[in-house]
Amino acid sequence: MAWKDGKQWVYSITYDEGCQALLEHSLPIHRRYGVPGHVCVVSREVGRPRCTPGSSYEGMMILSRDELHALAAEGWGLSCHSMTHAAINDENAQYEVVEAKGALEEATGLPVSVFCVPGNNDGYPAALKVAAAGGYEAIMTIYDDINRPDVDLMRLCRVPLHTEYPGPFFSAYDRFKRLHQAMEEGGWVIDYCHSPRPERPVHPWKDCTTEQLDRRFGTVCELGGDDVWLAEPNEVVAYLLSVR
Ligand SMILES: [Zn+2]
Repeated sequence: MAWKDGKQWVYSITYDEGCQALLEHSLPIHRRYGVPGHVCVVSREVGRPRCTPGSSYEGMMILSRDELHALAAEGWGLSCHSMTHAAINDENAQYEVVEAKGALEEATGLPVSVFCVPGNNDGYPAALKVAAAGGYEAIMTIYDDINRPDVDLMRLCRVPLHTEYPGPFFSAYDRFKRLHQAMEEGGWVIDYCHSPRPERPVHPWKDCTTEQLDRRFGTVCELGGDDVWLAEPNEVVAYLLSVR
């Protein structure tokens, strides 16, 4: 299957939490390469400092409603990253997943149709149980794989784009990660990180640097040329729903 406009594969990137620092550090790189971004935002944190104790991003300012609208005008997307970033379970799923959607729509004035599981994949099963009835069209996880054209939209995989990965291997950054696989299989790569900054990541297992982000986009454009569709996840989900 060809993707939209005959493209052969797809590249997206998502930033969990939606830190305001993206405006300074990542947005210029997006503009240079023509890659639209996407932020996964905790509903209660819009326009406020991050308040999830223990998070590497604690205290960092989160994008405001106006900033999110400005990004949306440049083609950026938004998804819901739960109400409070708590681990999702059967007891809190209605609040953290379903009520969080309306809360984020109200806080931002933007439509929300994708849920992004906070923390790790442990909360995925509980989120899955309530998401469709709650009005979501897709769920993003951190299962690390490409998404084939027949992907289950309620289990989208993302590729961590980090400086280093946890032990025992401590795998190092690779600007080509999964790109040749996506090219060969006609797949969709959704990169995942948080808030790249110059020289040193906020946390090596959660982020890359701006230099690594720049090399990643350069590699996507160099390998993909006219064959790659640079799109934010809401656009790709809408496209897949339109052709199914
Ligand atoms: Zn998160």
